[in-house]
Amino acid sequence: MNLVLMGLPGAGKGTQAEKIVEKYEIPHISTGDMFRAAMKEGTELGLKAKSYMDKGELVPDEVTIGIVRERLSKDDCKKGFLLDGFPRTVAQAEALESIMSDLGKKIDYVINIDVDKDLLLERLTGRRICKSCGSTYHLVFNPPKVAGKCDRCGGELYQRADDNAETVQNRLDVNLKQAKPLLDFYGEKGYLKNIDGTQEINKVFEDIDQLLGKLAD
Ligand code: AMP
Repeated sequence: MNLVLMGLPGAGKGTQAEKIVEKYEIPHISTGDMFRAAMKEGTELGLKAKSYMDKGELVPDEVTIGIVRERLSKDDCKKGFLLDGFPRTVAQAEALESIMSDLGKKIDYVINIDVDKDLLLERLTGRRICKSCGSTYHLVFNPPKVAGKCDRCGGELYQRADDNAETVQNRLDVNLKQAKPLLDFYGEKGYLKNIDGTQEINKVFEDIDQLLGKLAD
């Protein structure tokens, strides 16, 4: 099964990606992870990517498309893959169509974990972290037993600077603007499957699993 996973920050994309690759035994291909690994190893690709990533900009399409083409051609992708963080532009989506056609494959589904912006804002701004041990909490969804104190170590809880409402709002707006043309592109192709990401984690996975079960038949 050849899949693309989409979802705004806070939608639960990472959690669902882990569950999908575990159950269906396909490689999880995250372009962000690939760039971070290349940076750590200090390769030429890593150096190139770093200058863009440090500024919060997209790595140029020709670089990104090249590494995805190479990765999807590897043997472990023969029975499928889960793409995460790619495509991010319509040019990348078009390139992916051509890569797939060169490999004699097609994308089965583009799974979009759908959560509306207001709920994402609530999810992301409610996050609190323990100063001492790093445990994370959520004011609404996973509150500590005593307000402001860590359940594990009693440490003081704080909000990360980039979790404040204005920054989160900006991050969501940028991501929404980026995602919209891709959702339209895949909607028109008939690949797009919206999954209700407001549900409890296991229920979200059940819905995805039900969809993928049809491919496995
Ligand atoms: P991520 O972990 O997916 O948020 O990606 C981290 C960073 O890697 C992004 O901010 C971009 O600079 C770069 N990146 C990841 N995927 C892509 C992509 N498909 N196209 C361009 N840049 C990307």
